[in-house]
Amino acid sequence: MKQYRTLLFYKFAHVPNAEEYAHQHLLFARNLGVMGRVLFAEEGINGTISGTIAQCDRYMEHLSNDPIFAGIEFKIDEEDEITSHKLHVRYRPEIIHFGVPDINPCDLTGNYLEPDEVLAMKDQPDVVMLDTRNNMEHLVGKFKNAITLDLQTFRDFPEKVDQLREELKDKRIITYCTGGIRCEKATAYMIKAGFDANKLFQIHGGIIKYAKETGGTDFDGYCYVFDKRVVTPINEVNPTIISKCHICDTPEIRMVNCSNPECNEHFVLCEKCGWEMEGACCTACKEHPRRRIYDGTGYYTRNGKQLFNSKQSNAQSV
Ligand SMILES: [Zn+2]
Ligand SMILES: [Zn+2]
Repeated sequence: MKQYRTLLFYKFAHVPNAEEYAHQHLLFARNLGVMGRVLFAEEGINGTISGTIAQCDRYMEHLSNDPIFAGIEFKIDEEDEITSHKLHVRYRPEIIHFGVPDINPCDLTGNYLEPDEVLAMKDQPDVVMLDTRNNMEHLVGKFKNAITLDLQTFRDFPEKVDQLREELKDKRIITYCTGGIRCEKATAYMIKAGFDANKLFQIHGGIIKYAKETGGTDFDGYCYVFDKRVVTPINEVNPTIISKCHICDTPEIRMVNCSNPECNEHFVLCEKCGWEMEGACCTACKEHPRRRIYDGTGYYTRNGKQLFNSKQSNAQSV
């Protein structure tokens, strides 16, 4: 058995004095010795925690025993090592940034569907699936026949979904996102904006839980995740690849950041083109004087090395 755990969790709730709550929680987590990132807002909690089995058990018990977060659900992954080396516990105005005031899914949200219910319902003629994720996410994977929106960020969702109201008015709508948190707010917004609450559903636990419980049937491509893996396979039943290398158009799932830091475009790039383009999205970026050194990963740290190292550029500027 592996010795470490990663916990993923969120819960919409009413948190009085969320700022003070975050401070107390930081002391608790520091004392316990866990690592990770936890956000508190008046609307709830959203976090990832990494620690030993015993630490994680104690952490889950602590949150579950607080009446504010009673019933909180944890997604638990077994790990060979700690997956985070820092601890951040912070207060934020929102646990997931949406920018629409007066929406708290613990008061109002779309109906939840369990993964097997999704499987039974999704192909019926009056049902549509609606992706609530951003462009770079649905570029590499989405449900077969799903409606996707042109979203740079989740904050664009209200404006884009408003345009679909006529088209979808007789449909039953199943929304989905990676782990479920965005759909809680997206469906809450849609109900307030006049979509029929009786016809509005969301996948409980998102794509990740759906994949665990159904084998990921009819999810085309890969699932974008916000960690070092970048994308992860989801579908064991009828998998496909839907994305293509930005340069040569061969089917590919690998995502990189452009090696020109001023561009930093997140895009799909095959290994062969990666070396040929030195990690750049276009010729102009390839020739950019500040281009970073491409090491084959297309992943750069904030203080990542540049092609021309900082000593040289300092020397030039002095
Ligand atoms: Zn290529
Ligand atoms: Zn570029």
